[in-house]
Amino acid sequence: MIFRQLFDKESSTYTYLIADVKTGEAALVDAVVEHVERDLALVSDLGCRLVAVLDTHVHADHVTAAGKLRERTSATTHVSARGGAPCADVEMSDGHAVRVGAVSIRALSTPGHTNGCMSFVVSADGEPLRVLTGDALLVRGCGRTDFQEGDAATLWRSVHEKLFSLPDETLVFPAHDYRGFTVSTIGEEKRLNPRLGAAMTLDSFVALMKNLDLPPPTKIHEAVPANRACGQRS
Ligand code: FE
Repeated sequence: MIFRQLFDKESSTYTYLIADVKTGEAALVDAVVEHVERDLALVSDLGCRLVAVLDTHVHADHVTAAGKLRERTSATTHVSARGGAPCADVEMSDGHAVRVGAVSIRALSTPGHTNGCMSFVVSADGEPLRVLTGDALLVRGCGRTDFQEGDAATLWRSVHEKLFSLPDETLVFPAHDYRGFTVSTIGEEKRLNPRLGAAMTLDSFVALMKNLDLPPPTKIHEAVPANRACGQRS
């Protein structure tokens, strides 16, 4: 299996390329519109063919490349049925699986940052289990709950009931990092995540999230409407 983590400096977003070496089928998760050429070149350089584009949620900080990638390839686009992006080819619900060759990408509904947030469990024979956590769980952090349909108690339950029930050794790949981290594990985040880990309770998490007092994402008024149209309207 090919697994690559790509980065957008402007929004600190990670895009993931997942492909099956044997069949050459490939998927991109959380692709950013400014990097369409980079991502398509990588897919083709590796001898792969893009068949699926997935977004973990309707992003507020960058515009998705989903619509552009669909136009340029035969790929189908996927977002949550609760994501508010009816332009997508496939509206996923909890448990929906996308296959690229022998690789399974299974959607796990993890709302709280937005209603439609999905995490993706990536598995293949002989590979460590990976989960792409979107903005639900970041390395030693989590996504904000103070805009779109954010709700801290919902996020706590998603992380504790869904993500933390994955095996401890599962590799965690977030949708963003602002401090240079690239990967963690479920076991590590259970122990060490300062917001959602062992030292916290639901009440202390809700209080902490309520008092973050951060400015809104700079691109929110452009990105959210554009992403509801798969990145093709601003
Ligand atoms: Fe987000």
